[in-house]
Amino acid sequence: MRIVLLGAPGSGKGTQAALLVEELNLPHISTGELLRSAVKAGTDLGLQAKVVMDRGELVSDEIMLGLIEERLSRADVAQGFILDGYPRNIVQAEALDRLLERLEQPVDEALQIDVDVEMVIARIAKRAAQEDRSDDTEETVRKRMDVYAAQTLSLIHISEPTRQYCQSRM
Ligand code: ADP
Repeated sequence: MRIVLLGAPGSGKGTQAALLVEELNLPHISTGELLRSAVKAGTDLGLQAKVVMDRGELVSDEIMLGLIEERLSRADVAQGFILDGYPRNIVQAEALDRLLERLEQPVDEALQIDVDVEMVIARIAKRAAQEDRSDDTEETVRKRMDVYAAQTLSLIHISEPTRQYCQSRM
């Protein structure tokens, strides 16, 4: 089973992914985690990514595709995966479709987690204290929310009134 999780920053994608991983016994692929590992390891990619992440913006599509291609080429994804944090825009979604088509492993389900924006801000403040994430300041979180509304929401096929309603609440 191949599942893609979509949701705003702090909506609980990681938490839901962990539950699904336990239930389905599949690897959890979080692009945020992959990037944070690269930052910690101090690789060139990590250094480049950190600047962008700390601004609350999206790391380049080229870097992200390289990361995801490498991760999906590993043997542990043979039975499927829970993909958390990718794709985040149309270019990434199309690249993922092409990649999975080539691997003959199309996505089975895409799940959106939709939560109230004030709840998200509160969750992230708590997470910032627990996980020491340098991109969890209120200013960066608001920027990440804007990026989500502008680039990621358009991946979700919902009606225009629903989209306007969602955006007005972000
Ligand atoms: P959140 O969902 O709370 O933003 P993530 O851990 O998924 O947290 O992502 C943290 C940061 O990593 C993002 O703000 C962005 O800078 C970067 N990132 C993660 N996934 C992607 C992606 N698919 N494309 C571009 N940047 C990404």
